[in-house]
Amino acid sequence: MSETIFSKIIDREIPADIVYEDDQCLAFKDINPQAPTHFLVIPRKPIPKLSDADQEDKELLGHLLLVAGQVAREQGLEDFRLNVNNGAGASQTVFHLHVHVLGGRPFSWPPG
Ligand code: ADP
Repeated sequence: MSETIFSKIIDREIPADIVYEDDQCLAFKDINPQAPTHFLVIPRKPIPKLSDADQEDKELLGHLLLVAGQVAREQGLEDFRLNVNNGAGASQTVFHLHVHVLGGRPFSWPPG
């Protein structure tokens, strides 16, 4: 598995504005925010994209969503949007699974 910018954040090789961490995951502010609040939740395990996860990742995937909701509330968000881009065709650019959490502005549907 090749190293990504996110594995460097996990290993503290590059800085990030970390808002939450535990033994399974990290949440940190997106460097190019698309909303007043925009942070990413990533597993420590280097799963490149959601479709690479399998049954053994079931609890981890649930944990990521629970952390996303918990940190969103801690950040003062009541309404917020989660987004997971899976693959280059879905605009994924960093191949380490991450959940985008965006809030602080209205969102429309469908997303672009
Ligand atoms: P996209 O780049 O199209 O949003 P992704 O879903 O792969 O695709 O998202 C990667 C996200 O990681 C982007 O929102 C980008 O701003 C963010 N990002 C890239 N490098 C860093 C970094 N060093 N610290 C925080 N966020 C980062």
